[in-house]
Amino acid sequence: MASLRLRAVTVRYGGLAALDAVDLDVAEHEIVCVLGPSGSGKSTLLRVVAGLTEPDAGRVLLAGRDQRGVPPHRRGVGLMFQDHQLFPTRDVGGNVDFGLRVRGEPREDREARVAELLELVGLPGTRRRPVATLSGGEQQRVALARALAPRPGLLMLDEPLGQLDRSLRERLVVELRRLFRRLGTTVLAVTHDQGEAFALADRVVVMEGGRIVQTGDPAEVWQRPASEFVARFLGFTN
Ligand code: ADP
Ligand code: MG
Repeated sequence: MASLRLRAVTVRYGGLAALDAVDLDVAEHEIVCVLGPSGSGKSTLLRVVAGLTEPDAGRVLLAGRDQRGVPPHRRGVGLMFQDHQLFPTRDVGGNVDFGLRVRGEPREDREARVAELLELVGLPGTRRRPVATLSGGEQQRVALARALAPRPGLLMLDEPLGQLDRSLRERLVVELRRLFRRLGTTVLAVTHDQGEAFALADRVVVMEGGRIVQTGDPAEVWQRPASEFVARFLGFTN
């Protein structure tokens, strides 16, 4: 069963369609990366799936269930933004623990889960560190651990590595892919960075002006861009 299914999803802001009749499926355990320039509708797409924006038309299904009217915290999705919005006054553990605490999970379970997650993202033993003392890359890992904590059925990443310098980004994206594969996480990521998209994804979806203009595996999109827009966006200039 598809983890996520969008059918003819449209979001309008005044005269502008931020999303224009978008159809998209993400299979269980699949890593899909939406690639498109700034303003193409990527964040709006994630917001609609997360329940932060209601679509003007169309349907959003998660694990086969229509999400109309379902509030964000009941959708079973994790969301991680570029500016990861960690709680600066809490320590690492307090940040990772946050989603589990609001769900009322028992303390011993939470502590074990936090230790497991910090191990997973390569930050063992940092539970008591104030987040402000961590580097940008380390903070991004904490944000990832926080998003993974409630075991979301779908993990969504919005320009997850956008703030980091290129060499760190290239290293982290490989690590992320390995981690998601190992955990079997279903991922919908969005980025304007083609290197990130091609390194992370099983399948790349290209957006332009609120529409999906191409979808395929990374090699296919790279070798056979479906339009002049896609080709130019990928950096082919002739
Ligand atoms: P991306 O993430 O690809 O940069 P967005 O989804 O943020 O694109 O935005 C898509 C389009 O919708 C843009 O033209 C943006 O200006 C517009 N938009 C997004 N959110 C709002 C909003 N809350 N109000 C008005 N326009 C918006
Ligand atoms: Mg965006």
